[in-house]
Amino acid sequence: MELDKMDENDWKYHGEGNKSLVVSHVQHARVLRLLKYSTEDDENSHKTTEQAFRHIQNIVDYSKNVMKPLLGEKFVHNGEAVKLPIDFVRQLSLKVQRERPESRCDKVMDTFSGCALCLPNLTQLSSCCCFGQHRPPLCIEIKPKCGFLPSSRHVTKEIKSKVCRFCMHQHFKLASGKWKRLSRYCPLDLFSGNKQRMYLAIKHLIEEPQNNFKIFKGGECIYSCKDDADVLQDLDELAQHLRPYFLPSGSLINGHQASKVVLNELIQVLMSALLSSWDCPRTVEPRKTHLPEGRVTCEASILHRDLLWNGNHCLPKDCVLAKILGTQMHDNLDIEGLNPLFRRVEQHLQDFPKERSRLQIDGPYDESFLEKVQNCPAEDDGSIEYAVGKVHQYRVAMTAKDCSIMIAIAPCGEDDGLDQNLEIQPAKPRFSYSVSILDLDPKPYDSIPHQSRLDAKILNYYLRKDCTLV
Ligand code: ATP
Ligand code: MG
Ligand code: MG
Repeated sequence: MELDKMDENDWKYHGEGNKSLVVSHVQHARVLRLLKYSTEDDENSHKTTEQAFRHIQNIVDYSKNVMKPLLGEKFVHNGEAVKLPIDFVRQLSLKVQRERPESRCDKVMDTFSGCALCLPNLTQLSSCCCFGQHRPPLCIEIKPKCGFLPSSRHVTKEIKSKVCRFCMHQHFKLASGKWKRLSRYCPLDLFSGNKQRMYLAIKHLIEEPQNNFKIFKGGECIYSCKDDADVLQDLDELAQHLRPYFLPSGSLINGHQASKVVLNELIQVLMSALLSSWDCPRTVEPRKTHLPEGRVTCEASILHRDLLWNGNHCLPKDCVLAKILGTQMHDNLDIEGLNPLFRRVEQHLQDFPKERSRLQIDGPYDESFLEKVQNCPAEDDGSIEYAVGKVHQYRVAMTAKDCSIMIAIAPCGEDDGLDQNLEIQPAKPRFSYSVSILDLDPKPYDSIPHQSRLDAKILNYYLRKDCTLV
């Protein structure tokens, strides 16, 4: 990418989240991730070029030096901070504006700093050998959210150890008008490692994607939540897109039956990718990560009510889900246990403001930051080091609760055609896939009080509404 010869016609709108807007290159498998600002911010709150560049460099450092060692080398692409010509950024902003969903237009793209994060386009498979000529690669994005129930002794409300945060939050989001329907997805089912529960978790994601599920075909988003929340997802239309990948071309199955088969196949492929143990040789039975007893089911999950689970709740040790869950579990005090420690840090910083940099409150996100995360004392010895270690751990966990998994899959096979007799050749690999994790920004230290208030709001709403009966 030649930064002095940037042309907005080479880039198109790709997607966005709450913090950033992403454009993809029309030919090369690259994306640019640009910062967004709230339209309520006044002009003075915009970052200067140097501030924005530092901010993006911090994201790169955090992904590379903190999240990558925790989540695994092969899953994380940290990218690089770039400075773009300001004219290019302005033209680009005008060009993408009409593509943006209305619900995201409360924020505007940063056209002041000219800084961006350049990343590989993870919706376009690069590491897979067999690139389907007739069929472009598929990529499925899952934002799994928090996969465990807190077991901290600091938790004051019993319900927190029974119903997971995602399921409680759903009721709050419905009441606040963010979504019109409840999602039946439960992260505890996805992270369970139990095939039956995982299957239903993914099915529920497909049925009500909200912002937890998207499908890209050849780099284009073909399935996600609709801006008009009234519209139910059209599963038959999705199945039409996917049919060439999962059904032989001569197949006579049609209509709803075909949709069922196709979506079932998709879910099976996703489960294999999510459970693949990338570090272990495939022939060796992978070691399993066992979750502590009593923290494996959420009472709000429909499954919990309908089915009795056998004890098979474990994930292969190095699969992407185990890596993410392990990182999320750095939050082992819960926000309620973290709060007093946050206040200890605040008090210390008030008394000794110069300590802010030694304690790496706002970075730098280097090896020594990771060391503070990993070598935090197990018991509270009353020290500032313990408090800071727990605060850092909590922030790392927050990042892992908010990241997305990208599963890129490409049809595979000698003639790249689907075998007519798949059922009798189950061992033949039909897809090659690559798995990555994205959106690994550091969560600001200052956002902890907000997290605490949000936690109380979600909880109180859930208890007041008695959602347990819904
Ligand atoms: P959130 O609100 O989830 O925090 P965010 O503002 O931090 O989101 P991202 O999640 O990083 O932004 O990016 C927004 C969307 O852009 C992603 O959900 C994904 O669909 C797409 N995207 C981001 N990075 C890439 C990439 N490297 N390759 C392909 N698509 C990407
Ligand atoms: Mg995101
Ligand atoms: Mg984010």
